Amino acid sequence: MKKTLLMLMGSVLLIAGCSTVPLTGRKQVNLVSDAQLIPQSAANYNEVVKQGPLSTNRQQSEMVQRAGRRISAAVEQYFQERGQSQVLEGFVWEFNLIDEDTPNAWCMPGGKVAFYTGILPFTQDEAGIAVVMGHEIAHAVARHSNERISHQMLQQGGGYLLSMFSQKTDYHEAIMQAYGIGSQIGAILPYSREHESEADRMGLVFMAMAGYNPEAAVGFWQRMGAAGGEKPPEFLSTHPADETRVRKLREHMPEALAHYRP
Ligand SMILES: [Zn+2]
Repeated sequence: MKKTLLMLMGSVLLIAGCSTVPLTGRKQVNLVSDAQLIPQSAANYNEVVKQGPLSTNRQQSEMVQRAGRRISAAVEQYFQERGQSQVLEGFVWEFNLIDEDTPNAWCMPGGKVAFYTGILPFTQDEAGIAVVMGHEIAHAVARHSNERISHQMLQQGGGYLLSMFSQKTDYHEAIMQAYGIGSQIGAILPYSREHESEADRMGLVFMAMAGYNPEAAVGFWQRMGAAGGEKPPEFLSTHPADETRVRKLREHMPEALAHYRP
């Protein structure tokens, strides 16, 4: 009886919690509201930035900030032109470069971006930073974290579903897990191949609109892929850089180049 009820609740939620990914049009399940996830992410982000340490290299920090400003402006323009500005509701952009020798970068729900200095040898220049910036911002715009957390909730089943009705669920740990932050937490929630491919495609369009040549993406992912052997960084465990990826990037290149405004 109880199980049937939970299954019923589950299917109601699945219907209620479905949305469509902008640009690609894919249907996705989103069980957590932005109103819950975005403020929690902002709190987590503030913790990360406070712990830092932030990079003291002004030139590098400014490059990350500039790529972030240009790409977020392009994203805003993209949705404004299509009458879909509600996609960015609740977004308050922030870009920080953290002084840590790990090749990583992410964008939390709501537009909170962190780059780690360890990724700069792979990005090499501002166009390379724009590749990663566009890709990570695309994950946030496409609500991939929400989807990952939703899938995890469905796997964990009834308890989570019930607690959702209280609206008091604490997503702190789920968010930290999604970005591999915090040492006590186990596995990072992986992005699926589908998410990666989607973020690549959207990211290329956004960087191109911001005036960065999207063809820089191929070189970046090839450099990342070459690094996989020595010390597979966290970034690669969630972002496999292989031939399939590069092939798909090339497939999406004409679409991105149509948006390129040098
Ligand atoms: Zn990704």
